[in-house]
Amino acid sequence: MRATYRPAEWQTKQDSQLCAESFAECREDDCPEMFKAVENPQAVAAWMRQHTADTGHTRYWEGHGRPVVVTPPDGSVAARRAAEFDRVRA
Ligand SMILES: [Zn+2]
Repeated sequence: MRATYRPAEWQTKQDSQLCAESFAECREDDCPEMFKAVENPQAVAAWMRQHTADTGHTRYWEGHGRPVVVTPPDGSVAARRAAEFDRVRA
C-alpha cells in the first residue's frame, strides 16, 4: 500500500505583533494633504470631513491595511519544519 502525502495548507492570520493602519490622501488637483492613523479608521473619516469643511475638497483615496502572517496550521508537518527553521535562524 502506498502512502499518500498532502501538501500542508497554509493560512493567513492577523499578525498580533503589529497594528492595523488606515490612511486617506486628498486627490483634488495639487493638494498634498494626507492623514494616517493606527488602529483608528474613524480618525481618518473625521480628518476627511474636516479637510472638506476647511478646503471644499471632496475626492480622496482611502486605504485600510492590516499586518498578516502566513503560517501552517498548528500540528502540521509544515508547522514543525517552520519551527525548526526558526530555531536555526535564532
Ligand atoms: Zn485637499
